Amino acid sequence: MTAVRMTNLAGRAALDLEGRAIDVADRSNGRFSSDPMLLLADWERFCEWARAQSLRGDETVIDPDAIGPCVPAPRSVFGIGLNYKDHAAEANLDIPKSPMVFTKFPSCLAGPHADIPLTSDRVDWEVELVVVIGRGGSDIPEERAFDHVAGYTAGQDISDRRQQFADKPPQFSLGKSARAFGPIGPAIVTLDGFSDPSDIALNCSIDGEMVQQSRTSELIFPVPQLVSFISRWCELASGDLIFTGTPAGVGSVRDPRRYLAPGNLLETEVEGIGRLRNRCISRTPQH
Ligand code: ZN
Repeated sequence: MTAVRMTNLAGRAALDLEGRAIDVADRSNGRFSSDPMLLLADWERFCEWARAQSLRGDETVIDPDAIGPCVPAPRSVFGIGLNYKDHAAEANLDIPKSPMVFTKFPSCLAGPHADIPLTSDRVDWEVELVVVIGRGGSDIPEERAFDHVAGYTAGQDISDRRQQFADKPPQFSLGKSARAFGPIGPAIVTLDGFSDPSDIALNCSIDGEMVQQSRTSELIFPVPQLVSFISRWCELASGDLIFTGTPAGVGSVRDPRRYLAPGNLLETEVEGIGRLRNRCISRTPQH
């Protein structure tokens, strides 16, 4: 049995099999939708079908520039602050006693090769493992949490520190929700795609220089605790995303401070999932 890798090619759900695309709706003769959100709502049945597919030889090689956000329209996108000890330490903040949850508004989601328009001179990077919810629910016990996880994807929790810390107390959600501030992808990968789903390497680099490197085994609140904790307050729905937090190495607490600049290439990699390549650009108003 191989892991399922589902991606979004120009708005249509596709299986990524060895880098080649199988269009889900075409191959299934319409049994399954081309809408990734509908597949997430019927994830177990979809995965059973997906695992039975194989290459026929006429599939096209996936063009990374054509990949959209693998979860294009979740109901909720949660972010977790200060979830790695080394990041809490570099930020000079105490380790939280319970998960510190904020929202990234879903309009910030973008594909793995999207350009990132910089909203100020203090835009920062945060490599993160992103949980994709399959079966929704409330009051999910920790020991059942993985039953509600469709898979993982890679993400960047791009953050405008100027907006975030403009006032006291700080506000997280707006400065983390500008256009393309949530690139994800390149695919949702089911948990059987990881030798240990609780210990996954992740890193990010700017113009080839490594700035963050860690493993998800360093999470203060691991994935089952996050799913359980959030579901006590908010009903989770299929397709909901949880950005699980970032390790040390962000720009705003470096000495000297460092931020993203137009022209920078931000590359984000999560083991077993793949790589995001996002070019930073100057922001022009969109009417
Ligand atoms: Zn974050």
